[in-house]
Amino acid sequence: MEIDIIKKTDPEVAKYIELEFKRQQNTIELIASENFTSPAVMAACGSVLTNKYAEGRPYKRYYNGCENIDKIEELAVKRCCELFKCDHANVQPHSGAQANMAVFLYALKTGDTILGMDLSNGGHLTHGSSVNFSGINYNTISYGVDENGVIDYNDVEKKALEYKPKLIIAGASNYSRIIDFERFSKIAKEINAYFMVDIAHIAALVATGVHPSPVSYADFITTTTHKTLRGPRGGIIMCKKEHASGIDKAVFPGIQGGPLEHIIAGKAIALKEAQSEDFKEYAKQVVENSSYLAQELISNGIDIVGGKSENHVMTIDLRKLDKTGKDVANLLEEVGITANKNTVPNDPTSPFVTSGVRIGTAATTTRGMKKPEMKEIASIIADAILEKDSIENLKNRSLNLCKKFPLYENI
Ligand SMILES: *Cc1c(COP(=O)(O)O)cnc(C)c1O
Repeated sequence: MEIDIIKKTDPEVAKYIELEFKRQQNTIELIASENFTSPAVMAACGSVLTNKYAEGRPYKRYYNGCENIDKIEELAVKRCCELFKCDHANVQPHSGAQANMAVFLYALKTGDTILGMDLSNGGHLTHGSSVNFSGINYNTISYGVDENGVIDYNDVEKKALEYKPKLIIAGASNYSRIIDFERFSKIAKEINAYFMVDIAHIAALVATGVHPSPVSYADFITTTTHKTLRGPRGGIIMCKKEHASGIDKAVFPGIQGGPLEHIIAGKAIALKEAQSEDFKEYAKQVVENSSYLAQELISNGIDIVGGKSENHVMTIDLRKLDKTGKDVANLLEEVGITANKNTVPNDPTSPFVTSGVRIGTAATTTRGMKKPEMKEIASIIADAILEKDSIENLKNRSLNLCKKFPLYENI
């Protein structure tokens, strides 16, 4: 076992890996951006591939000895193109943020205007937040959601016509509805803007047809590989043929040096897994679980932004209960449920406090949990927030669920 090898060299680090394994085993993971990747993916990420420098693209490297690396990266690219039915894929971005950065470098000049979803409305930092490179280097205009948590498409169009952004970004980190990519692309066409879709959160749903695909509409599609897609931590850029060589150059030498080929091997494996019937079932179950979890929370007296979830994620709205997201996320941790505080539309509090908690079903569904478990999770959450059961008892209820759905045989 890997852990025994680590123990011999570094017992301190080994101890914390073991503790982290126990934490993952014994808590209910509702952080919407997290998942549990397969042992095969983890093995590839810990393999000898970490030793190799391979700057450049397959068969066009700046280093010798890349004959095996080339084949692996080629497989990852081919599988990505098959899975998403896209023209071109670059699997080298180290993360979702790097993928977005490379698209910006290719499509924009410093100071150009971008139109993206506001962070506190569910967008991502890299879509123009003032503390991120995207907001520092580019002129950001933001759109948001209405009181039901639905994107205000009329506002997107109005702002597009008024500010003429060079790039329009769709995609979010906290949005519980289907996104209308066709509507976005029509708006982008009207003003001759590039259209980028960031599917970091919904990648598995797009890959399996559970969410409509942006491929026929977008110039660029970026994603992470570690959220619903259930691969290793990393990013991918997909694009139309005409942008392929520009995007490749923006990744390397534009923003990165040597690619993480051990992670790219993990991406290749995850993409193969994502082509299976099992994975299609998984993605469907993620959405079913999410929709049901939202309903159950509501019937237990807990509000959900917009009243439903159409994908894998939702936000608990605590405004009526006069509780903060910060306190409730901490309370859930005490009872064995991990989640994160999040703003709700027009949140009266600060982003450090918030009036919401974001929860998602990608990780629990990977463990095999289905509707009966979602019912129990909703009940644990509601009983914790409404103080209907003791912390001790709630903790045991969470642990019982986890014990029924073990995670990995060993580490
Ligand atoms: C998570 C996320 C990213 C960033 O991914 P990292 O790998 O954390 O850099 C980018 N865009 C969206 C929409 C995300 O949710």
